[in-house]
Amino acid sequence: MEMIHPYRRYSDYMKELYGKRVQKITVDAGFTCPNRDGTKAYGGCIYCNNESFAPGHKSTLSISEQIHFHKKKLATRYNASQYLVYFQAYSNTYSSLEHLKKLYEEALAVPGVVGLSIGTRADCVDQAKLDYLGELAQKYDITIEYGLESMDNESLKRMNRGHSYQDFCFAVEQSHQRGIKTCAHLILGFPWENKELWLKTADELSRLKVTFLKLHQLHIVKGTVLAEQYLAQPFPLMTQMEYRDLVIEFLERLSSEVVIQRLVGEAHAQTLLAPNWNVRSSDFTEDLERQMLALSTYQGRLCQSIEAV
Ligand code: SF4
Repeated sequence: MEMIHPYRRYSDYMKELYGKRVQKITVDAGFTCPNRDGTKAYGGCIYCNNESFAPGHKSTLSISEQIHFHKKKLATRYNASQYLVYFQAYSNTYSSLEHLKKLYEEALAVPGVVGLSIGTRADCVDQAKLDYLGELAQKYDITIEYGLESMDNESLKRMNRGHSYQDFCFAVEQSHQRGIKTCAHLILGFPWENKELWLKTADELSRLKVTFLKLHQLHIVKGTVLAEQYLAQPFPLMTQMEYRDLVIEFLERLSSEVVIQRLVGEAHAQTLLAPNWNVRSSDFTEDLERQMLALSTYQGRLCQSIEAV
């Protein structure tokens, strides 16, 4: 019997949209980030070490070569024939429009590629870039993934994000106006934040109607400023169970329209300092779904729907 899922899963959404599996292919386009190169700040966000999610990932291959390389593997393993190209590491709109056009169009020209997912910061897009991506969105499946991390400006300052919550809202609204889908990336667990703020963020993301959401527990990754702070003065981190229960409450407050791309992060063992839950994301989500079903709850159950206003 097929399981009923208590939240809107990305894989179901893609199947509804395309009728079959669409595989994401991650590429590295050699970008950097204004929060690291001195334009905004040096050193980057206090928790960031890009190596933790893509160790040794710097590619010497062109974008199309990287896509062809992954396509071959995915076609054999999953019988895939449609692909979304994911520009992941660093800020993938942080360059001239001409350069971006070249990279994105090289990806879209590869047979089977139906769209792009572009990870970036809210302050790395402008009207011209959004207009261009809006044009692409008429023909392709285009998502911009914006790092939000927190809706509290004081907290954003503390993590050295270099942008405000208002920057995020503006970028999301401007993207939607052009038919571009959005994905919000949010971290739950900074020790100076609290549950009230996190649940309020679910209300805000519902109000903004972000298309997708990626949730992530706070990881302390080696080689980061946060790791130095943690080692000098350890602070409490959520247990797996506490995080699971928080995510359930978060999902209850979130609009049922928001599609969930991810609920938990996995860092590489060699770079992770804490917390060490030692759980695969698929096991985490299975446990979370079981708990939601046991509680007879579901995404949006407590959403303070703005449609009702
Ligand atoms: S998390 Fe993103 S914005 Fe922050 S330093 Fe790392 S790459 Fe830059």
